[in-house]
Amino acid sequence: MPACEICGTSAEELYVVGIEGARMQACAKCKPQGSSVLAVVSAAVQRAPQPAPQPGQLGEVPALVENAGEIVRAARESAGLSQEQLAQKIAEPATFLKKIEGGRAEPTEKAARKLEKVLGITLFKGKGEKPLLPQKPGKKTEPLTLGDVVVLRK
Ligand SMILES: [Zn+2]
Repeated sequence: MPACEICGTSAEELYVVGIEGARMQACAKCKPQGSSVLAVVSAAVQRAPQPAPQPGQLGEVPALVENAGEIVRAARESAGLSQEQLAQKIAEPATFLKKIEGGRAEPTEKAARKLEKVLGITLFKGKGEKPLLPQKPGKKTEPLTLGDVVVLRK
């Protein structure tokens, strides 16, 4: 439960108030000490669960994580397996595994699935995860207004 920064009392609801240029969380009793209430902090709101991630598009091709080779090597070493031993387990040539771990080759989907299973790791970006690539800046996401449409049709 959040506590008042002025008197220290725990309260279900706190008010973010401006006091001498500083922002403090105050309980209802201390709230009048602030010059203005900037926001209300409610314990109930803080406990609210985050919205569920959006599910990935249907038919999405699974994408390998960028550092798949590093993950494979770390998992293999912690499992105490040599490259040859792991290669045998996934029925792939050890030279291929060496290339994967060195980042010089990408495992095929089949090989990656076997590595995931044998090592208990995740090599594919999970569906519903936030894309790792940053959004292109300046890209307009808001729908076109009627004015925009008129301009575009000129
Ligand atoms: Zn207080």
